Amino acid sequence: MSNLVSRCGIDCSACPWGPYPRKDMTAEDFEIFRNNAKRILGYMPIKTPCVTCQTPDTEIPKESRLPNKKCLIRRCVDKNGVTNCAYCSRFPCETLNETAGAWNRETVEARIGESISEEDYHLFVEPFEGIRRLEALRASIKPDEIVEPKKVSTSRKRIDNFPENLPFSKEESASFKAVYMLLKTLNECSLEMKDTDTFAQKHKLENLRAHVLRFLWIVGSCGKLENEKRPYIVIEAGKYLANRGSEKRLAIWSFVRNAIFNVLSEVGVCCERIALKGVKKKDLTTGTGYLRYKGWAIKIFFEERIGGAATLKAFQKYTVRLAKKYGKKAFKHFSTVKMQILTEN
Ligand code: SF4
Ligand code: SF4
Repeated sequence: MSNLVSRCGIDCSACPWGPYPRKDMTAEDFEIFRNNAKRILGYMPIKTPCVTCQTPDTEIPKESRLPNKKCLIRRCVDKNGVTNCAYCSRFPCETLNETAGAWNRETVEARIGESISEEDYHLFVEPFEGIRRLEALRASIKPDEIVEPKKVSTSRKRIDNFPENLPFSKEESASFKAVYMLLKTLNECSLEMKDTDTFAQKHKLENLRAHVLRFLWIVGSCGKLENEKRPYIVIEAGKYLANRGSEKRLAIWSFVRNAIFNVLSEVGVCCERIALKGVKKKDLTTGTGYLRYKGWAIKIFFEERIGGAATLKAFQKYTVRLAKKYGKKAFKHFSTVKMQILTEN
């Protein structure tokens, strides 16, 4: 095994983004190599090579885009004082699985819809089989070399109490209270994640929470309530994407489907993406999995266990009120469940 293994198990000595594979290539050969990488992996290796994961943060040149100093795995491994994740007692945590476990022959072939040659596999896929590499390493590590990661405290936002004496009927007040409970739960629970006492998982949880709340905010404040037999809120592609601000991940379909929709279904919010009439499902995303600006819409409805249609209506009323009063600052009030606005006429 190469001794140039990244914190997450990638082989830096063979990585197309790193300095080694391109070392003896002519400019022309490197262009062909980059384009082949893009064809197989969906991303184009950058021209200025990564200085590799083994380079300490203090020695990474300012202009270097890689390795990413903000990478949660890199920071978690460094905080725990281990060489890579194979030495951690929580190996493989979800953060690691999601990145280092995402790339292998099967996932790549499924994405591009064809099988890849042995040569392409060795050049472009094998370097990224991080989990497989770390598992092999783990098998050779003695039990007393495995380290328990340093525990980090969970940071909780302070959520105000639900305001009393709202100027609404008893039933409507109960629906606003249900909205409050839903948002409070999303702020306080671990969103089904494990190991949230580790650096990587804690930050992953905070990121996920922020994305889930932002998603709900966009749908609630910009979507349209449709009053059919079973009321739902619907938002079309363009409006959804235009309101996601700098939240790049909210445009990645696999993230929206696997992370956001799943978390929300656990708390009684059902979400689905629908293809508009005449649009094929395969045309809803780009080749790299980003949602396209048209052709689909997202629908959400609330299950009876959280109050169904009445809570959905209260949810939209609350978000629209916040948006009207606070404009660009409204999301901050929403994400910290500030409901005092409901006491105003
Ligand atoms: S991009 Fe990652 S795997 Fe590739 S050389 Fe840089 S640190 Fe290593
Ligand atoms: S908690 Fe996860 S990311 Fe952190 S060192 Fe352990 S396996 Fe790696």
